[in-house]
Amino acid sequence: MSQAEIPIRVDTILTNGFVITMDDNFALYPRGAVAIKADKIVAVGEAEKIERTYQATEVVDCNNHVVMPGLINAHTHVPMTLLRGLADDLRLDVWLYGYMLPVERNFVSPEFVALGAQLACAEMIRSGVTCVNDMYYYEDSIAESISKSGMRALCGQTIMQYPTPDAGSWDESLVSCEQFIQKWKGHPLIVPVVAPHAPYTCSGNLLLRCAEMAIKYDVPLHIHISETFQEVEDSRREHGMPVVNWVKKNGLLEARVIAAHCTAIDQGEMRTLQRAGATISHNPTANLKLASGVANVTQMLATGLHVGIGTDGPASNNDLDHFEEMRLVALLAKGSTRDPVVVPARTAMAMGTIEGARALHIGDMTGSLVPGKRADIIVLNMATLHNTPQYYSLSRNPNGVYTQIVYASKGSDVRDVWVNGKCLMRNRTLLTLDESDIRARANAVAAQINTFLIEREGDVLRKLAAIGGVQQEESFEVQLKARVDDPAPIIAKIINNSDFTVVRSVHYKQYDTYFHFDSENTRLRYREDEHIDESGQIINSRYRLTLVGAQKEREYPHSILLSRSRFIAPADRSLRFYREYFKPSHEVQIEKDRLRWEILYDDDTFFINIDRIVKPEQSGAYIEIKSRTWSIRDAEHKSQVIGEVLAQFGILDDAVIRHEYIDIVMGKDQAGTTA
Ligand SMILES: [Zn+2]
Repeated sequence: MSQAEIPIRVDTILTNGFVITMDDNFALYPRGAVAIKADKIVAVGEAEKIERTYQATEVVDCNNHVVMPGLINAHTHVPMTLLRGLADDLRLDVWLYGYMLPVERNFVSPEFVALGAQLACAEMIRSGVTCVNDMYYYEDSIAESISKSGMRALCGQTIMQYPTPDAGSWDESLVSCEQFIQKWKGHPLIVPVVAPHAPYTCSGNLLLRCAEMAIKYDVPLHIHISETFQEVEDSRREHGMPVVNWVKKNGLLEARVIAAHCTAIDQGEMRTLQRAGATISHNPTANLKLASGVANVTQMLATGLHVGIGTDGPASNNDLDHFEEMRLVALLAKGSTRDPVVVPARTAMAMGTIEGARALHIGDMTGSLVPGKRADIIVLNMATLHNTPQYYSLSRNPNGVYTQIVYASKGSDVRDVWVNGKCLMRNRTLLTLDESDIRARANAVAAQINTFLIEREGDVLRKLAAIGGVQQEESFEVQLKARVDDPAPIIAKIINNSDFTVVRSVHYKQYDTYFHFDSENTRLRYREDEHIDESGQIINSRYRLTLVGAQKEREYPHSILLSRSRFIAPADRSLRFYREYFKPSHEVQIEKDRLRWEILYDDDTFFINIDRIVKPEQSGAYIEIKSRTWSIRDAEHKSQVIGEVLAQFGILDDAVIRHEYIDIVMGKDQAGTTA
């Protein structure tokens, strides 16, 4: 045996398989082999030649199998496996603000994310994913779990303008992100990443600070960009430009950006991203499930952008099967352009492998079977019914193997997985993770979350509290309401009354929607107040939610004393959001025109409202006289004053009504009921 023929020692040879390299030439070896030494691929080629040149400690026969690069999940939030199936078939805002954020606020901890990451890794390894790009809270704990599983990952510590489960403020989140990067930089499996959540949850200055940190440590930056058309509309309204232009203006594109979603970017924005070296994660299932839109992948690829494929969080997918995603990428591009030749199978598979690696800025390290790259390799069983028969023919149908895998193969076809030269799954048995233990612990966490949601679901106040901003208000008020046929003389008396001092007067249009619940004796009111000036123009609008609990009453000769406790929250979302979130059994709308005076009568402050119910239309008007009170004696005194005021206005006691407008509208009142 000559010197040249002495076999070179390697650790592992995968041989006799159909080798798909995904290299620059898309080289295929129908009877091929891959040699692995330590963490790297040493050789790829014809099986016969590899076996002749190399001698391995272990030879793995891959007959009837495909040997290919591991799949790359370019955007997800791995701990959200624990929230899988928690809330589905909802609009994005209801899903996010009504369910995900409240549950995250209550449950997310380092232990929670560690377990969620383990569940995700087990699932991903079993379906052939070898590298994942994650973004979440307590990312250090996630990186710990992922690295123990043996998977490769980009781990992004989330940064937001607002408090998050792991940071009380944005500057705190910047500090913890920096510490996270310092700890993990240089790890063989983990690439630490700066992850500002999105342009609508970060200020321009915060985006700049994130970019500066990514540049300082030479790490990628991961962010959600243009997930929905709404986001783009908001950006145009607030910043006068689309999202990509705005983040560029704030220096974000100076970093190596990975932009998730981009369902609503135009060609100019694509060119801007491409010139800046930014990349995209396309997340078809999540975009479809939340009806966010369809990214124009065909145009992105034509622009020269590197586009990877992401599942997004498992709560909006709901699984991490990357074979499904590759198939959907191809199908969705065809369906949305009505052109069956766009995004062919080979392109979809490249997006799931080498283009995914390039999108994560680690294309020189992984994504294809090329000597010198890390050994991130999967072996697929082709001897299954759904993979039978096979029409791979290099001469007639060179892309047959790609179409087979993209359109027919499944995650469950993955037999073996190697990452960084280490075997993580063999014959479908996980070697680094205990599946049944993970399942048991995940089910236990889900049971706790379920209890939390069930308790909340039957309690309007807890649901209101879950979306934030609620304040309790105890009020004691002496009040009177009476019907008047013609309010004009009363208004004249209010304005020209020498006994009163008018402190302030305002004109509102009030749009009230009352939510009623069968199971509870509470009403939730959504009120939009439009403040109107003298010319009838709207000066400003205010939106509030008020939950009125039980109220206690005490009667006086001319009025009633109400003591009630209510909960008030700013209504910063749409009425539609609250309707879908609270699911009232029925609702009633009242629109009224309110003239309101704050008056000083002797030393007491009173409010007088003259209200006309515009919808449902009612004749005449109502007068309300109200005053805050603090003691029974004060209430008695004010009740007497109200009597005097009533007499001045010429209102008889039998015009007094004791019901609220909602009761009047619902027909509970008969005018004239004596209070
Ligand atoms: Zn996401």
